Amino acid sequence: MSPRIAAVELIPWNLPMRRPFVTAHGSKKVSHNLRVVVHLENGTHGYGEASESLAWPDEKRADFTRALLNVNLAGKEIQAARRLSEKVWQTAGRHPAAAAALECALLDAYTRSRGVSLWKWFGGKKRSVTTSLTISAWPPRVAGQAARQAARRGFRRLKVKLTGKAPDADLDRVLAVHRAAPKAMLWLDGNQGFTREGAIRFCSRVRERRLPVELFEQPVPRGEWRGFREIERQGKIPVVADESARTVSDARRIIRKQAASVINVKLAKCGVAGALEIIRLAKKTGTRLMIGCMAESAAGLWPSVALACGTGAFHYIDLDSHLLVISPPGPIDFETRGGRLSVKNRT
Ligand SMILES: [Mg+2]
Repeated sequence: MSPRIAAVELIPWNLPMRRPFVTAHGSKKVSHNLRVVVHLENGTHGYGEASESLAWPDEKRADFTRALLNVNLAGKEIQAARRLSEKVWQTAGRHPAAAAALECALLDAYTRSRGVSLWKWFGGKKRSVTTSLTISAWPPRVAGQAARQAARRGFRRLKVKLTGKAPDADLDRVLAVHRAAPKAMLWLDGNQGFTREGAIRFCSRVRERRLPVELFEQPVPRGEWRGFREIERQGKIPVVADESARTVSDARRIIRKQAASVINVKLAKCGVAGALEIIRLAKKTGTRLMIGCMAESAAGLWPSVALACGTGAFHYIDLDSHLLVISPPGPIDFETRGGRLSVKNRT
């Protein structure tokens, strides 16, 4: 018989950011996270983590906690982890980060109880992926310093946060980052801050300066995803849907209508089953996928690293939260060298 769930533990956790994290949505110095631990009767446990996000200001840790307290899993066999996860999403799905954290904890406990790594369970395709590093919407001098350090550490992809409200300052930041890390490819993240026209104008300023910009993420507000293709066509930079692709049905619509070249998949938005469904759908139309994160610790980031390596389904990897927060040391299933995230050998 498969081991039963003894308890689900919810532990509030405040992680200081290494530097203030600044986007078009606002800024934060501390990340308010919730650790979710599924304890099995045989002593095995599984781990998941929910993190508040600036992008979803009405999703607070108290909401995560309340939503998960409504899910009763005690006494259930862990072998049914996938079915139990469906129940979690039915009960707590209004708070996706919370539902995803419990889903991850269930799958982690399940795979550990079977002696299989989550990475293997996802397919074990590759042992490592290369991540970008995020440069916040800081003043150009600060952004330049951070980019120089990142380049020295070996990062070759930098995601630069833009506000859209002050396009000159945005451009100065991008220029400073490029000067400091001339070999790095740049991804821009507008976090919904631009208008359609403003985004197209910004793209042409980027092109005039021959900046090595590879992607422009979520330039316009969530509901304006129909404008992505026009921004791509006129701006000549591929657009990534992030806030516009929060749920699986959002992603399905964007993929079907081929409204964006890339979709940013985050477990905190759609969970594991949702991510696997988006991977399946994206293959049909050739939509490329990015995998992103919120502000999880290294332990909280593991399911995303395992998914990225295990499926090999993501063209763009943005799994850097463990480098942006200060989290106490603890056992982690992957290691980080420069931008390289590798599944540990024993895993
Ligand atoms: Mg984003």
